[in-house]
Amino acid sequence: MASAFSHAFVALASGKALQHPVLTWPVLFLGMTCSIVPDVDVIGFYFGIHYGDLWGHRGLTHSIFFAALLSVTLTGVWYRQKSSAAKAGIGVYLFLCTASHGVLDAMTDGGLGVAFFSPFDATRYFFPFRPVAISPIGIGDFFNGNAVQILVSEVTWIWLPTIGMFLILRGLLHLGFDRFSQNGHGLPGSGEQ
Ligand SMILES: [Zn+2]
Repeated sequence: MASAFSHAFVALASGKALQHPVLTWPVLFLGMTCSIVPDVDVIGFYFGIHYGDLWGHRGLTHSIFFAALLSVTLTGVWYRQKSSAAKAGIGVYLFLCTASHGVLDAMTDGGLGVAFFSPFDATRYFFPFRPVAISPIGIGDFFNGNAVQILVSEVTWIWLPTIGMFLILRGLLHLGFDRFSQNGHGLPGSGEQ
């Protein structure tokens, strides 16, 4: 895993960069939560489930299928009274937040790969480019281990590119697309927002 902080940071920055009116703070917090949820599979270690199993770490809960299932379920239950357009926007955001977890994990330099296509295909995948230092499971281990090395790696390969993406998206919005997102929605709009 990359650390939970980095997963949540990517989800938050992506949501803030898009500036879409449906991406309110509660939705952003839900997106940050979704970006961390796939690692609930570590519970399986305590029940004898092996890393490489269907329910093992980086297995089903890290798949595209799970991201779709989670985002559709949350949107359908939590936001069922919203308009179809709002539900679509929130659903896509929650899907991207959840799916981003596996993408980041597939860039780490340790453990097994990510079962992106589980449960249909159990193959574990890594990207060819894996610069992110693996983060230990469990927050205690994180701070006891090579925390500084991991943080430097994540800042370099996750946080800085994410900030770069954030600035580019914001720039693009200011160049021409901002009129669409600001029309009649009373966004703060002032200053750096
Ligand atoms: Zn993970």
